[in-house]
Amino acid sequence: IDESVKEDMRKLEETFTGISERYRLINRIGEGTFSTVYKAEDLLYDHYQNDWALDLDDEDDKWAVPPSKRRRLGDEQQKSWPEKRKKPKYVALKKIYVTSSPLRIQNELELLHDLRGCKSVCPLITAFRHQDQVVAVLPYFPHTDFRIQYRTFMVADMRHYFRSLFTALHAVHEHDILHRDIKPTNFLYNPERRQGVLVDFGLAEREGSEFTGQCLCTNPPNVRRDKILRSYYSTHCSSTLSSGYPKNDSRPSRRANRAGTRGFRAPEVLFKCTSQTTKIDMWSAGVILLTLLGRRFPFFNSADDVDAMIEMASIFGNRRMKAAAAMHGQVFETNIPTIGEKGYSWEKLVVWASCVEELTESEKQATRLLAGLMELDPHKRLSAKQALKHEFFTDPID
Ligand code: ADP
Ligand code: MG
Repeated sequence: IDESVKEDMRKLEETFTGISERYRLINRIGEGTFSTVYKAEDLLYDHYQNDWALDLDDEDDKWAVPPSKRRRLGDEQQKSWPEKRKKPKYVALKKIYVTSSPLRIQNELELLHDLRGCKSVCPLITAFRHQDQVVAVLPYFPHTDFRIQYRTFMVADMRHYFRSLFTALHAVHEHDILHRDIKPTNFLYNPERRQGVLVDFGLAEREGSEFTGQCLCTNPPNVRRDKILRSYYSTHCSSTLSSGYPKNDSRPSRRANRAGTRGFRAPEVLFKCTSQTTKIDMWSAGVILLTLLGRRFPFFNSADDVDAMIEMASIFGNRRMKAAAAMHGQVFETNIPTIGEKGYSWEKLVVWASCVEELTESEKQATRLLAGLMELDPHKRLSAKQALKHEFFTDPID
């Protein structure tokens, strides 16, 4: 283990006195914008109380069983509970950075509480706080690194991956919750079990609540990007209320929740739509599928929202981008000559990205699903429930 990681773990043990009696820190497994995640062994895990009388092949299976369906072991069963079952129990300790707003932390813990019992959502075991520091304890989920697996993924593997992802999203969306940050690192996928769990509800929010789409962060990126010039050419997007661009524009710029990860943001997020729905997660899932089919990661590489619109416009063409912008009361305009009026078909794009001559029948089928996910109009875009009924899953070509 890296010395700096060891130092980090020592610091965590110092801050939370007594933590080392309960957890043995093993290694750092993740480092994101908002947290550092460590793998640890739960030293006080009570096997008799917590291992369920189910046919368990895998140590983590019990987390896949909703609490209502769990059954405790009877006394006799407890006595005969085989020693070999008592394998070490691993947890993920998520140390949330002190710079995260308390609202964000509370939001994540609250939504996870709502979603307890959803087997495809990583549950929260407990959380503790010391002054301004918070650590969330989650069961450890073995998973593979997307940056390694995406190159070798066959269409059949994609089918398992997305069946699991859409099942997870369906469960979350049924609770009227938008995840807002769907991307490979927030879906821990285990190819052997063909199952994954969603993590990281730090940006998630309730749909239809008065705040959906409204930015809750303390430092909204409230910069007007309307008139940004890209060298000689320009692309802009502005409110239809304006006629031209007055020099001293005192109108407040539209504030909408734009949280998420660049490259995965849905068009309505870029267009600052103020009533965003669960469909934004379906777009992001589409970007993952495009990455796998196109064998390019990351697929989109924009530095900011205007760049992201240019990337999108290069695919969809000017005409469809204008229509999409109008849907959200915005005007999209560009004079970049490489952006055509018509855009490209998904099949053409996947062929180009993956450098093949032609797509196989199964790739074509996956591309038809892609078209339903990366649909500019959120109303026409597939929901998780609809996606699960797509021919890609019900009538697979292999
Ligand atoms: P952040 O808000 O910093 O992105 P995440 O909850 O997404 O935090 O966790 C960051 C990374 O830590 C994940 O991408 C994953 O690699 C690892 N991780 C998080 N939770 C778990 C878990 N329960 N089991 C295994 N690894 C995890
Ligand atoms: Mg994350």
